[in-house]
Amino acid sequence: MLFERVAIIGIGLIGSSLALALRKHGLARRVVCADSNPVHVAKALELSLVDEAGTDLAAAVKGADLVVLCTPVGALAALAAEIASQCTPGMIVSDVGSVKELVVERVAPLLPKGVHLVPAHPIAGTEHSGPAAGFAEVFVGRWCILTPPDGTDPAAVDKMTALWRQIGSMVEIMDAAHHDRVLAITSHLPHLIAYSIVDTAVGLEDSTQSEVIKFSASGFRDFTRIAASDPVMWRDIFLNNREAVLDILQRFNEDLTALQRAIRYGEGATLQEVFTRTRAIRRGIIDAKQA
Ligand code: NAP
Repeated sequence: MLFERVAIIGIGLIGSSLALALRKHGLARRVVCADSNPVHVAKALELSLVDEAGTDLAAAVKGADLVVLCTPVGALAALAAEIASQCTPGMIVSDVGSVKELVVERVAPLLPKGVHLVPAHPIAGTEHSGPAAGFAEVFVGRWCILTPPDGTDPAAVDKMTALWRQIGSMVEIMDAAHHDRVLAITSHLPHLIAYSIVDTAVGLEDSTQSEVIKFSASGFRDFTRIAASDPVMWRDIFLNNREAVLDILQRFNEDLTALQRAIRYGEGATLQEVFTRTRAIRRGIIDAKQA
């Protein structure tokens, strides 16, 4: 048993998965949750995801030795301000947000002295949302990146490392700004491209649109899965990882223009060279068991 009372704030896909995983592995004596949405609170109780659930965030946090913020990243700073009065020395506060520099910059200053902030980002999930979408195994075999600010108590980092390992993840510790740059290319840009491609199809005239659906297995379908991800979550990711995403997007635009040029001038060798390079990346992902 790693924790006495874990409070999960935001019982959506990741919050409910974490609650289930903690209970499955017996890592906390009590798991409680709070969510601003009473429908999700009722669902959490109906599905027995947690021992207690309510809409009062401060009440859930009171007496906890671990608090995990599992809301969209745009809500994190306001949440920290709301629960700060119930955060006591020795408590660990963590999160699961997909952007990390903002947690270090905007959440850390709001927490009382003696509270240990250990931000986390599980590189796991699905395109679904809400408490009914969670499952304990979602973290198994996936990476979880921890971005503790300089000077964080190593014992708190060790405890969070133990939590993620025991629910099946592999853990890497990283600087928050570096995390945001890496995720801009591995996750944020691909989502932006998927949203953009699918929206292009939405803009086509009706007759073509029906054929896009009919023949979607030729590539489009894979983009629609990514583009079905939660709109609020992704709005917040782009607004809060602005610089890194814009930088990667600039490079992407340049590379896309180079491909456009190769097509226009019939430069088959250039196209083949690029596609051969990219194929090797896929093989690397399969070898790393992240496919
Ligand atoms: P989700 O299923 O939409 O769950 C978020 C929950 O938080 C919802 O119940 C939401 O209620 C609630 N909420 C929103 N604002 C709140 C507030 N101010 N106070 C209390 N509760 C609030 O989202 P998710 O997919 O679990 O994502 C949660 C976090 O995990 C995000 O920061 C995301 O970046 C990160 N993450 C997601 C994935 C993924 O694949 N989905 C993977 C890794 C990390 P409403 O629905 O009523 O807004």
